[in-house]
Amino acid sequence: MSVILSINDRIIILSNNIDGRWIAAMNNFSLSNCRGELVNKQNLKHFVGEKLAEAFNSTIECLSQTEHKPTYDKLPFHHLIFNTTYKCNLSCKYCYFSADSSGSSLNEDLIEYSIRKCLDFLDDNSELTVLFQGGEALLEYDSIRNALEKLGKQPKIHYQMQTNGTLINEDAMNLFEKYNMHVSFSLDSHMENHNDLRSKNPDIFLQKIFDACKMFQERNLDYGIISVVCKNNINDLRFMFQEFIKRGIHTFAYNLLWPIGRAKNEGLDELVVPVGQLVDTMLNVYKDIYKFNIDQGHTPFEKYHERNLFMLWRRLFYRKLTNYMCMNTPCGAGINTLTVDTDGQVFPCALMLPPLEKGFQIGKIYTDSISSLLQKDSLVKHRNLDQISQCSTCTYKAACAGGGCGIAFYHSKKDINSISIYCDYYYEMLSAMIEHAMLQMGVRVLKNFEG
Ligand code: SF4
Ligand code: SF4
Repeated sequence: MSVILSINDRIIILSNNIDGRWIAAMNNFSLSNCRGELVNKQNLKHFVGEKLAEAFNSTIECLSQTEHKPTYDKLPFHHLIFNTTYKCNLSCKYCYFSADSSGSSLNEDLIEYSIRKCLDFLDDNSELTVLFQGGEALLEYDSIRNALEKLGKQPKIHYQMQTNGTLINEDAMNLFEKYNMHVSFSLDSHMENHNDLRSKNPDIFLQKIFDACKMFQERNLDYGIISVVCKNNINDLRFMFQEFIKRGIHTFAYNLLWPIGRAKNEGLDELVVPVGQLVDTMLNVYKDIYKFNIDQGHTPFEKYHERNLFMLWRRLFYRKLTNYMCMNTPCGAGINTLTVDTDGQVFPCALMLPPLEKGFQIGKIYTDSISSLLQKDSLVKHRNLDQISQCSTCTYKAACAGGGCGIAFYHSKKDINSISIYCDYYYEMLSAMIEHAMLQMGVRVLKNFEG
């Protein structure tokens, strides 16, 4: 196979885009820019000149031999997601789920039954993450608590919940503490009126969220914040990191806005941040977090991290290519992850539930075995980066893996192999992360592999 070459004004990078190995050099030669060129020993000189091509000769040979790396879709079953309810006490304008005050919820028997069935399926060495999301999961607090009480302590289970945070009270905190549940809740900005996509009363919303932060801090419990990045809050992201430090938050996620579901109906496409501004801001966030960890005596992202940048960093520099389900193609949906809907129907992923589009169910939790559900075909399993021309020859195919959730792009374009709307962001960001590392280390050449 050939190796991929990209050049921008700052770096020259050669990669094997299947196993994720790369070597980068500073572009001190004013070479013309190119992106995703297939190169070999013979044609490299046309892009970088005879002398540099000669210097890269042995590296080209090394990168031409693809190393075997495990892929996410080969991991065993490990993730059970509950769509706890279609109801929500808010109605965020970008909710892909279009949740509001009406709709069905699951009951405690369905939760208990599903978890027991998955536990029975696990082999001795596997563990299960159980995630409650919705709609607003805490509207079904009683059902969740009753099911967990019936199940008792389950050492193989890691519980997680995604909530809008407004219903967190002492009872909920007791549940989180007792079951060591990792809770993520939502906050788009530390500025009241920059949360107005979430709530019609952003002042009350902000106070409730800060109260919830305090409850977690008082109990010394781990929690995380999820923010949806759009034009309304892009200028707040760096300040928010300082706010998170103050409130004892180590892990947070700046998720990029997907204009699907209610976001599409609300015309929020126009709130997608332009690539240049997005790269500038996220790179500054990246540098802030990097530096803050080091200043505190940690390694770069050891203690404080924004989830998406942290995962990207690990993938790019350490080739941890099976971390974070949604940064993989194929992702784990329907392969090692199942989503149970309120009526017991099973879907590969929550992004395939009926509010977005009907017809993606793969069976029923009460009647189908877990192994038969995992073998069912589904659209999401057909996303293939080699069918997307930009991705197939992209320098960063292994690290980026397609720029986010394929089903989200499907909902926009009705093509499972459509390019990510954030492709250029990922490409520029990954290049900038390499350049940043080289500047930090004071080197003109850097690579992420031995040999
Ligand atoms: S379909 Fe999208 S959200 Fe669901 S697991 Fe795959 S990448 Fe993640
Ligand atoms: S989406 Fe990612 S892998 Fe695909 S071309 Fe863009 S940067 Fe490369």
